[in-house]
Amino acid sequence: MDATSKQRRTQKPNIYAHLPASDSLFHSRKQLFEEMASRVHYSIQNNFCFLSSSSSSQLYNSINSRGTHLRNRIHLRKNLFSSSSRRGALYCTCSRNESESLEPFVLTTPLYYVNAPPHMGSAYTTIAADAIARFQRLLGKKVIFITGTDEHGEKIATAAAARGSSPSEHCNVISQAYKALWKDLDIAYDKFIRTTNPKHEAIVKEFYSKVLANGDIYRADYEGLYCVNCEEYKDEKELMENNCCPMHLKPCVRRKEDNYFFALSKYQKQLEDTLVQNPDFVQPSFRLNEVQGWIKSGLRDFSISRASVDWGIPVPNDIKQTIYVWFDALLGYISALSEEKGQPNLQAAVYSGWPASLHLIGKDILRFHAVYWPAMLISAGISLPKKVFGHGFLTKDGMKMGKSLGNTLEPNDLVNRFGPDAVRYFFLREVEFGNDGDYSEDRFINIVNAHLANTIGNLLNRTLGLLKKNCQSTLAVDSAIAAEGNEFKDTVEKLVEKAQVQYENLTISSACEAVLEIGNAGNLYMDEHAPWSLFKQGGAASEAAAKDLVIILEAMRIIAIALSPITPSLCLRIYTQLGYSEDQFNAATWSETKWGGLKGGQVMDKPKPVFARIENQTEGEDGGEATKKVGKKKEKIPQSQSMAGA
Ligand SMILES: [Zn+2]
Repeated sequence: MDATSKQRRTQKPNIYAHLPASDSLFHSRKQLFEEMASRVHYSIQNNFCFLSSSSSSQLYNSINSRGTHLRNRIHLRKNLFSSSSRRGALYCTCSRNESESLEPFVLTTPLYYVNAPPHMGSAYTTIAADAIARFQRLLGKKVIFITGTDEHGEKIATAAAARGSSPSEHCNVISQAYKALWKDLDIAYDKFIRTTNPKHEAIVKEFYSKVLANGDIYRADYEGLYCVNCEEYKDEKELMENNCCPMHLKPCVRRKEDNYFFALSKYQKQLEDTLVQNPDFVQPSFRLNEVQGWIKSGLRDFSISRASVDWGIPVPNDIKQTIYVWFDALLGYISALSEEKGQPNLQAAVYSGWPASLHLIGKDILRFHAVYWPAMLISAGISLPKKVFGHGFLTKDGMKMGKSLGNTLEPNDLVNRFGPDAVRYFFLREVEFGNDGDYSEDRFINIVNAHLANTIGNLLNRTLGLLKKNCQSTLAVDSAIAAEGNEFKDTVEKLVEKAQVQYENLTISSACEAVLEIGNAGNLYMDEHAPWSLFKQGGAASEAAAKDLVIILEAMRIIAIALSPITPSLCLRIYTQLGYSEDQFNAATWSETKWGGLKGGQVMDKPKPVFARIENQTEGEDGGEATKKVGKKKEKIPQSQSMAGA
């Protein structure tokens, strides 16, 4: 990982390292002046576009049509450091291939709202992000995996009050609960940003000032129906009976506020063009249509401050208002990149890895990420992220989950009972990434037992058992020699290639499937060749059997690397049984999925089950009622978990 940053340093020596950090965004002084000159030019152009475009009249219309009063239109044109032109700001114009190989792979989960402890939906996004991050690290990329917590807003203050604690105490507790769960689920994030972190607050204020300077923030009265749970004003036509929010099923309250607005409508055309030019920006592709639909139906400016909310970042120059939670939290993706030491600074943070390669989100917050956020970034002259991927929702036993329905799925409970590998594997394998998916305990236990305990665990165990009995746990030959002229090797190589493509395309479930196919092929090979009976025959048959074991174990070695993004702990256990150290496992790269890693003379560890079957507590107990009981029963500590440290 360090090699990448070293490379970057070598490529563009920072000869101005002695200058204040604020200059570090620019590769050189000369470039700084060139860019300043071009900025003046574009700034003039932008002003012209703005004034002549229909969007400005739309802007006024949209405000007037809502019966708002435009009080104070701030029109500052002092673009501080937008590093390129409006169009150029979206995608870096420097040589693409060259920069791509050196750029870090930055991916983010949403910053989770701390009004309540983590739920399964958040865990699901984070598991998926972790699998993608681990795969990218295997490819040798420098990865910056960002997660964190969104800690401001009225809802948080209310939740804290309900628990009898201060907002900041409440945030500490919940934020810690997230960190603890991520640890239990083997989530290896690089940055955890909290929106109450002072460096984040400084960056939000700086960003706000840039958007203000760009003439995109104005003050207006607004009266409308407000959903406290959404922290958002609602359009009356989208509400249900009694002005209920369709998401929260609670009545919205009428509120009148004097707020600051962001001129989103101004960016309608630019957003439309961006999506046409970059159709991969929103994924899966069917979500792109949805986003394009929203934009076509007309973008309205949105209020980015609250006068009635104290728990938030104060609006610069107006401490009576705080910044709207989304206008605050989205910036966490950038503030997370800034270094711990030194003064927080927007451009330094941008230089530390922005733009993000991938924002991973649930489909419910697509509008904020694919419409609001890009417009905010364009306004501030900052590049857009490369991709926003909106995954689906989880249901339980075919039903929508909810506290009121009493059928929530507790991620802490799942991981305590079944261990991280089973939980990660089930959701990544069973849910087609991007679509909705369902959890049922029976299905969970069946899948995990069949795939991890039987196909993989059992194959490894019986192969190592035979090796111990017949070969003193020592490999007879190199795996490359053992597989000469053997079709099995080709099968494995093809499946590995397939898995790689699937991981790259974020079709994670198919990637799991391809790796599991290696296990299936291995089991078939074992059954067909029956090395146990060949050993009994002795002589040449016995030699062939010894080779067969090497072949299977080589396949297991490849599985241990190729499945490690999904089930890292399980794969480490497999790897160490093959005679490798934990350090060797951590240093492994995707290139080592090539056939030929195991060498003759290598000594395997003692065979120990790497994944114990999960006992379905319902089996053999009092019949029909049993299925229900399983969720409430006090489970014994799962063997799979107690083995994690083995
Ligand atoms: Zn709502």
